[in-house]
Amino acid sequence: MISARGYAAHDPQSPLRAFAFERDEPRERDVQIQVLFCGVCHSDIHQAKNEWSNTVYPCVPGHEVVGRVTKIGAGVTTHAVGDIVGVGCMIDSCRHCKPCKLGLQNYCEGPNSWLATYNGPMVPAKQAPGGLNTYGRDNTYGGYSDVLVVRDDFLIRIPPALKPEVAAPILCSGVTTYSPMKHWGVQAGQKVGIIGFGGLGDMAVKLALAMGAQVVVFTSTEAKLEEARKLGADAVLESDAKALEPHASSFDFMLSTVPQRHDLNPYLPLLKRDCTLVVVGALEVMAPVNNQQVAFHRRSISGSLIGSIAETQEVIDFCALHGIGPDIEMLRIQDLNEAYARIEKGEVRFRYVIDMASLAEESVPTTLA
Ligand SMILES: [Zn+2]
Ligand SMILES: [Zn+2]
Repeated sequence: MISARGYAAHDPQSPLRAFAFERDEPRERDVQIQVLFCGVCHSDIHQAKNEWSNTVYPCVPGHEVVGRVTKIGAGVTTHAVGDIVGVGCMIDSCRHCKPCKLGLQNYCEGPNSWLATYNGPMVPAKQAPGGLNTYGRDNTYGGYSDVLVVRDDFLIRIPPALKPEVAAPILCSGVTTYSPMKHWGVQAGQKVGIIGFGGLGDMAVKLALAMGAQVVVFTSTEAKLEEARKLGADAVLESDAKALEPHASSFDFMLSTVPQRHDLNPYLPLLKRDCTLVVVGALEVMAPVNNQQVAFHRRSISGSLIGSIAETQEVIDFCALHGIGPDIEMLRIQDLNEAYARIEKGEVRFRYVIDMASLAEESVPTTLA
């Protein structure tokens, strides 16, 4: 076993704190990584606080991980010691179902769906047919830690053109916004609306602009209008009905990145006929939708979940090629709980990235998990 340490939530209320645990030694096809940086995603907060009612404690969040390879299993040929690699939201999938065979691991239909980088299988044994747990573990510990062990084909190569700390948030917020834009065929000259302008929205705007689209940001925060314009997008206050009017029936594609339940009705009239509004920020019951606005113009509302391993590599390479990435602010792990509070208040547009070197300053309790 490998001794590891990290930061964990032990219940929904208490602050996260230093935590010692063990990881398995790398097997034949596994790669051991020293974690250098880990982005802080809004999902980490939802999960740490059990806001999706499925948290397994102790919970070590973190699925925007960049690190250096320190050890490889005997069967690993695609990575070498010293390589800079990334780990996103998934560390394994069933490998047998139709989506997995098509390389769509994020839509795995196996009995336990995909294995999340933290909090274990997406479908836990108690919800799986016959109480099955094909991964043999109920919990997984994520990137708020000093070491990770991951199967080789779930690792992402980080090209030298991308700083590792900038690459980290792309592994979740980048691919979550890139995947639907690719699937719905966003291309140069189209008009794209981005609803919400936090960590996901920031990446969505940069990616859409790099694809050559004309971008309009919808935000509830007046101070963010100027920030969006600085990137080269147009920006509208979502509460300003008059400002929405000129955009009626003009969007080829819209993406909602708002991280909680919200009303989609004001945006539907802005879509062109046959065009789609995709929700990626909120994984919950949404407010009712007026189907007149959908049916009269054959509009669609859809959702999309992160992206495949191949798409994660693609968005990393796309960002390296176009010289784009998230605006980040480095965070010491000791300041994590404070950062959570700021993110929850919606004050943060940049992405916090934990510098894992700060973990070395922690005196971790000697009791293991
Ligand atoms: Zn995330
Ligand atoms: Zn599968």
